[in-house]
Amino acid sequence: MTHYICKGGCGGSSEEMGVCETDGCANQWEMMEECNCADGKHGKAEVAEVLVVKDSNGTVLQDGDDVVLIKDLPLRGSSTVYKRGTKVTNIKLTDNADEVDCRLGGSALVLRTEFLKKV
Ligand SMILES: [Zn+2]
Ligand SMILES: [Zn+2]
Repeated sequence: MTHYICKGGCGGSSEEMGVCETDGCANQWEMMEECNCADGKHGKAEVAEVLVVKDSNGTVLQDGDDVVLIKDLPLRGSSTVYKRGTKVTNIKLTDNADEVDCRLGGSALVLRTEFLKKV
């Protein structure tokens, strides 16, 4: 349904055509603009939440990065230990900022970023 919004910074909107009456608004007494949005957001782009994944040094990690382990990591449920300094190539970010997916020695692993250092 058509409505009218003020773009002077007051955030005002109205069902009827008219001027903004908000004291202090940059567009006070100016005609509000027609808007036809259905979601009440008046066309404002939603700010996408960007997940920032960082290694143990605070370096930002991205898909495809190579990292090394900074700690011996025993593989749960086996006698395998991935040694400190082991290089892990082509990591994949997950929905969790604390974890990345990777493949190591043919196994798919989830590694905690606190044990990783970007190379
Ligand atoms: Zn206004
Ligand atoms: Zn609108």
